[in-house]
This record gives sequence, structure tokens and C-alpha cells, in this order.
Amino acid sequence: MQRAILWFRTDLRLSDNLALRAALKENDEIIPVYVFDEQWLGTDQWGFDRTGPYRTQFLLECLEDLKTHLQEVGSDLLIQRGDPAVLLSAIAEKYECNTVYCSKEYTSEEIAVEQQLAKRLSLRTFHNSPMIHPDDVTFDIDRMPEVFTAFRKKVERYSEVRQSFNSPKSIASPAIEASEIPSLTDFGFEAFQQDQRSVLPFKGGALEAWKRLEHYFWDTEKLSVYKETRNGLIGADYSSKFSPWLAHGCISARAIYDEVEKYEDEVEKNDSTYWLKFELLWRDFFKYTAMRYGTRIFHPNGIKNSHKKWGYRPKAMQKWIDGETGDEFVDANMIELKTTGFMSNRGRQNVASYLVHKLNLDWRAGAAWFESMLIDYDVASNYGNWIYAAGVGNDPRDRIFNTQKQAGMYDKDKAYRNRWLRSESVLKR
Ligand SMILES: Cc1cc2nc3c(=O)[nH]c(=O)nc-3n(C[C@H](O)[C@H](O)[C@H](O)COP(=O)(O)OP(=O)(O)OC[C@H]3O[C@@H](n4cnc5c(N)ncnc54)[C@H](O)[C@@H]3O)c2cc1C
Repeated sequence: MQRAILWFRTDLRLSDNLALRAALKENDEIIPVYVFDEQWLGTDQWGFDRTGPYRTQFLLECLEDLKTHLQEVGSDLLIQRGDPAVLLSAIAEKYECNTVYCSKEYTSEEIAVEQQLAKRLSLRTFHNSPMIHPDDVTFDIDRMPEVFTAFRKKVERYSEVRQSFNSPKSIASPAIEASEIPSLTDFGFEAFQQDQRSVLPFKGGALEAWKRLEHYFWDTEKLSVYKETRNGLIGADYSSKFSPWLAHGCISARAIYDEVEKYEDEVEKNDSTYWLKFELLWRDFFKYTAMRYGTRIFHPNGIKNSHKKWGYRPKAMQKWIDGETGDEFVDANMIELKTTGFMSNRGRQNVASYLVHKLNLDWRAGAAWFESMLIDYDVASNYGNWIYAAGVGNDPRDRIFNTQKQAGMYDKDKAYRNRWLRSESVLKR
């Protein structure tokens, strides 16, 4: 009887899961496990919760959905809280197995956990998260193209996206001790109501991810106009809103890519359908940047050899957080983030630029606030975009946004600013 642990990380799905597929192929029984890692539940050096209430809520919904799907195929989900290396070792001992299958992560804290675990058990990792598998690129990661356009051209020309695949029909597991999904209050947060102004009533889980795709691609065909609408600020459909589900791995980038191709065959192929694939390559670009540069993406000088001095003034920082800078476009975006856990890409670029170039504050504090608040927080995308915005990343140009001008272009009628600055918060269940 060959048994192994399947350790879920940011791959909270059964479909197109390379670690799950290999675990099932090579074992008779598997024990699916999720661990709330204590290191991501505390506060950071700036005093922010590392995982704030919005993402915690989304994560709990993802786990609920994952557990249900596992039960449907004859298995279950064991949920624990603490140090993954210690807990997974204890589970391995209890269930008499020695191998852990999981997704590979590319950033230092996540890699450190893998290293700790590998000292105790046999660890098998799989590239579940990037759209382009690292074995399929034609360059050494250490020599990856520095600039996005060069990276994109290389992978578009020489690399194929691997075909995604469906969930297994059944999963054999030993009797697994029942685990309750914790509640928000177990993490020190009060239950909250969703603000009606939120772009979408985001709900975690694979089922919801596929519902969103069904809506955005097949029901409304909004994908056909994505390139024209993607800089919007209000409403569900100006962009795909796939990011929270991608960040938690409820759906894979490969599966989305396959659906875009299907859409191109069955509905239409145009600049917009291409542009979604293009944006997914940005996501990959930051993952590859993390692979290449390691901890440097968290360094004040990022991946550049510059020696910028960053300041930190708590009061100014707090005003930025609370949307009280006096710049209405920045403030509206910051209030949206604080109230809902989401902000558009246009908004993120503007508020990041404002923090760094106008307020001259340490970009790492801004990145940490985003980490705390965003429901779609992804280490590589967040820190990659922040170093880019701070002029210490892969951008060959120093990009400074004129927030007044941006407001005039993207919020001409002030509908967005009025929405967040002059309308009451409307809460709903
Ligand atoms: C300062 C800053 C911080 C950011 N932090 C994060 C983060 O923590 N997590 C995150 O997923 N995205 C982050 N982004 C990127 C981007 O803003 C979001 O991915 C996007 O707004 C999510 O909305 P969407 O799914 O509707 O995007 P769409 O426009 O529909 O794009 C489709 C997908 O492409 C990917 N994508 C698009 N733009 C980018 C980008 N610039 N970088 C990386 N991937 C991209 C995302 O996976 C997104 O879901 C950040 C951007 C900035 C400027």
C-alpha cells in the first residue's frame, strides 16, 4: 500500500493540478492537507496583518469549496494550523507515509518552508502556477530577458502552453480525521458585510472561478472587448476579475488560456482575446523574475543597482492608507481597497506611483499594505509590480503617473471619485 500526502498551497483546485495527478498516479492512497502557516497570520514589520480579513474570508471559501469537491470524489481535506514542516511530518508519521506532493513556489519564505520540509520528508514539487512551464522556455532562468517585451516575444515564439486537464473522477484516501473549516473570528477578525459598491461579490473556490469565466466569456462575451474596457474603474465586467481565483489557484492560467483559444475558435479572435493572454504573460513574467532574482524583489533597491534612499513618515503613510491625501483619484482608489480588498489595475498603478514619487515613501510599506488588503495578493505579482512602480524593477523607464491627468482620462465624469468619496457605504449580506 503506497500512500502520500498532497499538500495544497496556492493551488486550491482538483482540475489541472500536476501535483495531484502525479500523487494519484504513483500512490494507492493520498491524504489531502491544507496548513494555515502561522508566519502568514501575524503582523509584519509595518504593523499590518499579513493576511487581512478580505483575503482570509476568500481563502476560507476556497477551502470550503475544495473540501466539498474532495468529498464528492471520495476523499476529504485535513486542515491544520501551525508550522507546515512540523505538522506534515506528524501527519506522515500517523498515516505511515513519507512523501509529500505539492506545487512549487518561487519566493523566499515559501521556498524556506519547502527546504524545512525536505529535511524531514521526501518532497515532490510541481510547476502548477505559471502558464508557461519552466521546462518549456528556451532560456536559462538566470539569463531570462530583463524586459517584459523581450520575455513575451521569446515565449510567444518558442514556448507552448501545456494543455490543461480535468479533475480526477475518484481519489482513494484512508479514513481522514474530520476537519472543520475555521471561521473568520478564529483569525481575530469580525465577520463583515460586503460593500455594495464592490466591483464584484467575490467568493472563493473553483466553482465560483468557473462561474466567473462562464459569465465573462460565454454568457456576456465581454472577452471580445477586453482590450477597450480593461482600464475601467467601476463594475464587474471592465476586466476579467480572475486575479483572486488565480492567486489562490482555484483555476489555472493554463485552463484560462485553453478557454480563450476555444473562444477564439467558436466566437471570435481579435485584439482583445489576444490581450488577455498577453496579461497572463505579465503574471508569468513576475514569477520568472522571482525565480531569477530571489530575495532581491523585496530589497529596497529591488533588482537594480541603484542606491535610492526611501523615507518613511507614519502620518503620511496613514493618510495614503485611509484615502486622505487630498488627491481625489488616489483617495477614491485607496478607499475602495480598504473597503473591499480590490482595486483596478489603473488604480494600483496610480496609487503606487503617488506613494513613491509624490510622497517619497518607502515602496515596501505600500507593497505590505497591498499584501495585507488585496484578496488577489500574489507575492510575485505584488512585489514585481511594486518594484516596477518604484523604478527599481524591470522597467527600463522611470514611470511617474500624473494622477490628475489620469483622473481626467479615466474618470472624466468623476463617477468613480463620487462613488468612493461622496456616497455612503452601502452594506449588504
Ligand atoms: C502595484 C501593483 C500591485 C499589484 N499586485 C497584484 C497582486 O498582488 N496580485 C495580482 O494578481 N495582481 C497584482 N497586480 C496586477 C493587476 O493590477 C491585477 O492582476 C489586476 O488588476 C487584476 O484584475 P483582473 O483579474 O480583472 O485583471 P485583467 O485585466 O482581467 O487581467 C487578467 C489577468 O492577467 C494578470 N495580470 C494582469 N495585469 C497584470 C500585472 N500588471 N501583473 C501581473 N499580472 C497581471 C492577472 O492574473 C489578471 O487576473 C498589481 C499591480 C500593481 C500596479
